[in-house]
Amino acid sequence: MFKGPVESKNEAAMSELVPEPRQKPVVPMKPTGINTNLLGYIGIDTIIEQMRKKTMKTGFDFNIMVVGQSGLGKSTLVNTLFKSQVSRKSSSWNREEKIPKTVEIKAIGHVIEEGGVKMKLTVIDTPGFGDQINNENCLRPLDLEFMKHLSKVVNIIPVIAKADTMTLEEKTEFKQRVRKELEVNGIEFYPQKEFDEDLEDKTENDKIRESMPFAVVGSDKEYQVNGKRVLGRKTPWGIIEVENLTHCEFALLRDFVIRTHLQDLKEVTHNIHYETYRAKRLNDNGGLPPMTVETEENHESNL
Ligand code: GDP
Ligand code: MG
Repeated sequence: MFKGPVESKNEAAMSELVPEPRQKPVVPMKPTGINTNLLGYIGIDTIIEQMRKKTMKTGFDFNIMVVGQSGLGKSTLVNTLFKSQVSRKSSSWNREEKIPKTVEIKAIGHVIEEGGVKMKLTVIDTPGFGDQINNENCLRPLDLEFMKHLSKVVNIIPVIAKADTMTLEEKTEFKQRVRKELEVNGIEFYPQKEFDEDLEDKTENDKIRESMPFAVVGSDKEYQVNGKRVLGRKTPWGIIEVENLTHCEFALLRDFVIRTHLQDLKEVTHNIHYETYRAKRLNDNGGLPPMTVETEENHESNL
């Protein structure tokens, strides 16, 4: 079971240059031998303010896809991450009706705003993936196979859902098993070691990689705990607080995906995954642009 944030590009961008696949993201070269002070202030530093102004006006995009069998807690987790109803809840299913469903992929767009910054969030829900296979609580070969393919086109962030349903020992054991399976099967997940830019990146990312997959709890219900409203799950033995690090690792996941790595997730998707995909499509096509596919989105934009 896993969830993977995804950034995808649909536009058929063309260029004569076919980039080498899977290269490091382009980083600006360090200036050498130019003393700008000598010539007086130019104003290069204003670029940051210009970027800020533009982003404040237009907002920024973020696409996230959640994958896993239905009932796993995917919609709840995305709602918990963005503290709003950004993903639909699974329709109530009953055991009698467990007919294998067609994998239906649905993208739902939202604009959420915080501190004047607009985020155009697209949640791609894949309800029912893996429903046909009934093998509770283990990393199924289907997941591994799927992840192998997916890791070549998007950033994968494996997550253990409903961590409150496991004992501490089970959680530790499951975490180790998932990590081992990923390693044995050569599945690379985000943040990929090969894209660490420097020692600072490496130190920070090593810490994250070591604690993955995050074992999380999701909820869209609020409770009063010590005079504070918190998101949590009420159980007969107390309230499991979603953002309390002694209860689960949701806060680690949230900080990582939203507060520290959101921009990098987008950059790796754009510079590595999308460029690799584009190069492949160009090569497959003998340099011709990919055929345009009629999608729901195209229809909508044509209205
Ligand atoms: P989805 O089909 O994967 O989108 O799953 P949902 O988010 O709709 O959740 C399915 C059920 O699991 C709902 O009844 C949720 O309240 C419950 N659920 C979601 N997250 C958790 C969790 O972290 N722990 C527990 N115990 N239940 C959860
Ligand atoms: Mg759902």
